[in-house]
Amino acid sequence: TRRVLIAGNWKMNMLRAEGEALASALAKDFAVGAGADMLVCPPATLIAPVAAVLNGGAISVGGQDCHMNESGAHTGDVAAAMIKDLGGSHVIVGHSERRADHGESDATVKAKAEAALAAGLVPIVCVGETEAERDAGKAEAVVEAQIRGSLPAGATETGVVIAYEPVWAIGTGRTPTIDDIAAMHAHMRKVAGSMLGSAGALLLLYGGSVKPGNAAEILALEDVDGALVGGASLKAEDFLAIAAAA
Ligand code: 13P
Repeated sequence: TRRVLIAGNWKMNMLRAEGEALASALAKDFAVGAGADMLVCPPATLIAPVAAVLNGGAISVGGQDCHMNESGAHTGDVAAAMIKDLGGSHVIVGHSERRADHGESDATVKAKAEAALAAGLVPIVCVGETEAERDAGKAEAVVEAQIRGSLPAGATETGVVIAYEPVWAIGTGRTPTIDDIAAMHAHMRKVAGSMLGSAGALLLLYGGSVKPGNAAEILALEDVDGALVGGASLKAEDFLAIAAAA
């Protein structure tokens, strides 16, 4: 009953012409009623032009981050309502690159996710261990603590998405074993279920070096409900192939 979500995180890539071309290539070949939902998260500067190209069709658009406050004196930041205003449906919060580059703590991520909910966006809350944490046998404990600290108050199982992105798998071409992904996602559903009351309808995405060649195997896992794709979301052919593998 959980509908697969294939989400693209464009990160800090694409100028307007490239972003519009990518969105239009995706829209041309991705149909409503396909086996998965598709979401693209361009940089904030491109949300409006990409939304214009997608034109309310089968592909949704979202942001990569939002501020925790509704508005105000926060130079350079983007409010959740601004993303919503441009036609956004989702916003990524707590990506490991923001946790690292901008020192975002679980409490910050939680506040951002709450701002997203308040603005009517679905937050995609990112969690994931470092390689040292996995080597120390602490991956599940680290991810559990991040979920407990980052899930927004007032979330429902259909109003929030959690993405498991092991830091060491992002942009490296390396992924956990299929068994490790399965075990982590089962654990995440249990933890989230204890917080939300139930998590049978909650979408849990896997991210980190997802590509056409490994998508089918990962997406076939019981507790993997989609993917959060970085590098391979920048090429229409690859991103469409990942969605087709769902
Ligand atoms: P890659 O797919 O490039 O490994 O990036 C994953 C990611 O960080 C998506 O948010």
